Amino acid sequence: MRAALYGKGALIRKTYEYLERSGVENLGVLEDRVEDLVLSEGYPGARQADESTMDPDDAVILVAENAWLSFAVKRLCAAGFERICYLPYYYEEEGYEISDDSFVWIDPTLPRLEYIEYHVAWNCNLKCKGCTHFSNILEKEIFGDFDQFCKDLQRLQELFWGIYKIRLMGGEPLLNPQLAHFVAAARSAFPDADIRVVSNGLLLREDMEDVLDTMAACDAGFDVSMYPPTRHAISGMDKICRKHGVKLFVTPEVNEFRAFLDFDGAQKPEEVYASCPARHCAFLGAGVISTCSMPQLIPILNERYSCGIPVDPGDIIDLYEEGLDGEELLKRLRRPMAFCRFCAKEQRSFPWEPAGPGKAVLADWSVYGE
Ligand code: SF4
Ligand code: SF4
Repeated sequence: MRAALYGKGALIRKTYEYLERSGVENLGVLEDRVEDLVLSEGYPGARQADESTMDPDDAVILVAENAWLSFAVKRLCAAGFERICYLPYYYEEEGYEISDDSFVWIDPTLPRLEYIEYHVAWNCNLKCKGCTHFSNILEKEIFGDFDQFCKDLQRLQELFWGIYKIRLMGGEPLLNPQLAHFVAAARSAFPDADIRVVSNGLLLREDMEDVLDTMAACDAGFDVSMYPPTRHAISGMDKICRKHGVKLFVTPEVNEFRAFLDFDGAQKPEEVYASCPARHCAFLGAGVISTCSMPQLIPILNERYSCGIPVDPGDIIDLYEEGLDGEELLKRLRRPMAFCRFCAKEQRSFPWEPAGPGKAVLADWSVYGE
């Protein structure tokens, strides 16, 4: 096989050196010119690139930071390359040795999905007032169905060549004793993904070795929101993560929450959607997906307070719909939903405080506070 490298960053040197040792004929590094992609005349510190031009059968190995891969695949396709594989971004780190199995072939005719989030556990130990996922008012334990999750990942693999970011969340994912399996399944389906476990951090213990070791092996990190109770636990969490080689990403302190629902549904969907940060937060349910979590989670509020907020069936997309392809799904995920009329553009903030099922009231979510 003959292959050229395309990418940027420190990893390209490591890959170049690997190719020199492997049985692959190393054609050199592709350089981006305004109109074309050309083989560079050499690579600093490595041998001069082959004089040959690229044949359609030659492979291109993409080596770059994760955020750049979507652009790079489109660029290569536009330049006529069809045989494309990538080396996952985490091979840059110590402990990841490149082998022939490290390269992941893709079908460049498929698009890449930028983001999904998924509820590993729907309920939560912290129970913040006005939780946007309504986890504070759930009294029974609800966990994501692992077999369905694997099936849905497989379906997403048919629709997309990759996913930039996967956030396993809730609720509190550490409540689910199967969390490690979810992390491993996500990594196995999408080697390109930046995988995060979104947690308040309070339940992490030193002896959760299956979770910690799996996360380290899968290069999955914790995304921790710094709520007031988390402040006291964060240094312990940091120590545990360091010991197990798990990355820890911590938000700035969160002392305020925001109420955002207009129960009258009097908002203009296009207007609210245009400035809503959640419009990029595709939510994966059981066999379905929606632009954000709201249409799939609002039944929790409806059930608790009998508020009857309607869900338009068009807001929740069946992943298995006949004839659905990745491009069509992206198109549908990138437009306002009927539900957006229930979200206010100007939100009402209030200080963070706990409010479990006994204390929470419907007004906690109302933009008008009543
Ligand atoms: S920590 Fe608070 S905001 Fe996060 S899921 Fe739990 S209750 Fe909701
Ligand atoms: S329903 Fe629409 S406006 Fe509301 S959070 Fe989701 S994307 Fe944003």
